[in-house]
Amino acid sequence: MNYIDKTTNADAANEIVIDFLEETQRRRNNPGYKLFVQTPLKDQLRDLLIDEQQGYCCYCMRKLAKDETTTLEHAIPRGSDEAECNGYLTRYAGYFSDIVHLDAFVRTWSYPPYPHSVAYYNLMASCNGLLTEGTRDCSCCNNKRGHDEIVPLPFIPAINSLIKYTSTGQVYATDSDTQKDNAIKVLSLNTATLKEIRKLWHSVKKKGIDVTTKAELLSVFDNDILKMPTDLLKYYQNDYYFNLFQSYKWFYGYYT
Ligand SMILES: [Zn+2]
Repeated sequence: MNYIDKTTNADAANEIVIDFLEETQRRRNNPGYKLFVQTPLKDQLRDLLIDEQQGYCCYCMRKLAKDETTTLEHAIPRGSDEAECNGYLTRYAGYFSDIVHLDAFVRTWSYPPYPHSVAYYNLMASCNGLLTEGTRDCSCCNNKRGHDEIVPLPFIPAINSLIKYTSTGQVYATDSDTQKDNAIKVLSLNTATLKEIRKLWHSVKKKGIDVTTKAELLSVFDNDILKMPTDLLKYYQNDYYFNLFQSYKWFYGYYT
């Protein structure tokens, strides 16, 4: 997992948010997320967040595309009431800046702080969690989490060393912290498909073959399909799963 530094792009990102706030104020609308997603500003902010995250999902490290398959994750859920929002800001104070609940914001219309519904400091780019061919069931990340409370893992500066992955693809918190363990569980980061893909990247890295084709993947197993673990066969045999595996190439760089 990568730390997301919210200081570098703040000016450009806040400008997009401010454009939205000024427009909604002019029209006497509520600057909620539902209205934001109907504007081109949402796509602008999404693309900025994707670049800020080097193109990877904030939680599972899947490669993101600048299209509707990428979702915007609210660290403080967009449906939170004022008390819930303030709870986040108290409990995880060090990880947030310049955020206020939407209801509190519309009482003053002054910024910063920005309403949690659209605040850049509350947003990350996440995959849509689709990991199974032929279904629309979301298996991980933003869509799997829904409204559940979790510590904002990518905002923890040392997260890169605090979240690790085993050779069998398991993800865990190195400090056995219950908040981080809970976040991993809520986000389903140990769902079978993600573990298989990470396990496969570990095997690939061990051979040092930077796999981009199915032929190269088979060569990792000495061109002998019988040497491929049965739970990993689909990543070779099925195009959907081969492409899914490729979208997690971040793990080739992760494993040593
Ligand atoms: Zn993801």
